[in-house]
Amino acid sequence: MDKRTATCRCGQLQAICEGEPVRVSVCHCLDCQKRTGSAFAAQARWPEAQVTVTGRAKTWERVADSGRRARYQLCPDCGSTVAYANEGWPGLIAVPLGAFADPGFPAPKFSVYEHRKHPWVAVLGEDVDHSSTPSIARNPVHTTR
Ligand SMILES: [Zn+2]
Ligand SMILES: [Zn+2]
Repeated sequence: MDKRTATCRCGQLQAICEGEPVRVSVCHCLDCQKRTGSAFAAQARWPEAQVTVTGRAKTWERVADSGRRARYQLCPDCGSTVAYANEGWPGLIAVPLGAFADPGFPAPKFSVYEHRKHPWVAVLGEDVDHSSTPSIARNPVHTTR
C-alpha cells in the first residue's frame, strides 16, 4: 500500500499515512485560519488505523462552536500541527495537506465554511463541492451524503 509522510517543519514529528485519503478538503473557517496562519486550511483524512504518528507531540484540545472537541497533535519544538481528530469525524484523522510538502497531492473535492472565505480565494475544479456549512455537518456518518 502506498504511504505518504507528513512532517512538522523541524522534522521530528511525523504522520505516516497508508493508502489514499478518504476525503481531501479546504476549510475557510476562522479557527482554521488561526491554526494555519493562512487564509484557509487544506487537509486530508484517513481512517485512524492507517495513520501512525511518531515523534514527540504536544496535544491541544479545543471545543468548537458545535460543542464537539477537536484534538491537535503539534510539535513542541517548531509548533507545526501534523494530525488532528474531531469528534464530528469519528474514526478519522486529519492531516494538514501542507505537512506533506507535495504539490502533486490529490486536489480537494470539498470546500467548506465558504461564508468565511476571503474574496480573493477560489478553489478550482468542476467536481468541487462548495458549501457554507461546517464539514462536520456534512459528515457521511450523520447524513446520507
Ligand atoms: Zn517540529
Ligand atoms: Zn475550519
